[in-house]
Amino acid sequence: DLSNRVEIQGGQDEIGRLARSFNHMMDKVSASFERQKRFSASAAHELKTPLATILVNLEVLELDGKTSPDRMEKVLTIVKANTERMIRLVEDLMRLTSDEDHEMEEEVELGEVFAITLYELSPLIRKKDLTVSIENTPDISLTGNRIMLYRVISNLLENAAKYNREHGSISIVTGREDNDVTVKIEDTGIGIPEEALPHIFEPFYRVDQSRSRTVGGAGLGLPLVKDIVEKHGGEVAVKSTAGEGTTFILRFPASYHGVERRGCVSPRH
Ligand code: ADP
Repeated sequence: DLSNRVEIQGGQDEIGRLARSFNHMMDKVSASFERQKRFSASAAHELKTPLATILVNLEVLELDGKTSPDRMEKVLTIVKANTERMIRLVEDLMRLTSDEDHEMEEEVELGEVFAITLYELSPLIRKKDLTVSIENTPDISLTGNRIMLYRVISNLLENAAKYNREHGSISIVTGREDNDVTVKIEDTGIGIPEEALPHIFEPFYRVDQSRSRTVGGAGLGLPLVKDIVEKHGGEVAVKSTAGEGTTFILRFPASYHGVERRGCVSPRH
């Protein structure tokens, strides 16, 4: 047990310094172990909820004897929705925890990524009657992994739509700032309260547990976004006013900006 460690204080000599650095190291190991435990507990809990719902519904069928087609349909809908929820969760978990080597040298055109993502989100965008505007600086590309970058944009745009109000809007602006590539995604949604902002990139964190359960996923979207952006040498920032809207700002360093990284002149510039 890591918490039952013997404290060695030590003096100013070599042994004392070693003991202190060992203790410091063990504190880090112990904190990381605690984080892992919390992560696993949350993941187990998230999986258990839909499983329990499925079981209860199947038991209802069992007790009913002869089930009316109406009732049968209801149960099947619930079972299907909960199975889908678990699949999404497991997929997110696999993405977040996978350590596989990705091809990181692809040239990914941002305009193309937005086009695909918006097409996929079009049913939701239409349903909520959202206005989407894109101000895409032409020919902006990033060097990295296409699927991973696609996932970043897709998660952010999906949130911008999901947590938006009816007839709201989403604005996408890409550009270059001090040689960095920036991507801003702004929405007119419900916003994120100030006290929640420091936590939104933590796994399984949701601002409003009950609302997000119906609207959102398991709270793994933003941790994945942060992880991928950082793997590309970039950073993600967020500004939000509750009740007004949210802006996510991605910034990728110049060294990751397409062809410039390789030190040659891009034929398209
Ligand atoms: P989820 O799967 O619940 O959407 P995320 O990790 O993507 O999980 O986001 C974490 C939480 O942050 C969400 O549950 C939601 O409460 C809040 N959130 C994320 N994006 C937005 C946004 N654009 N507007 C308002 N709230 C947001």
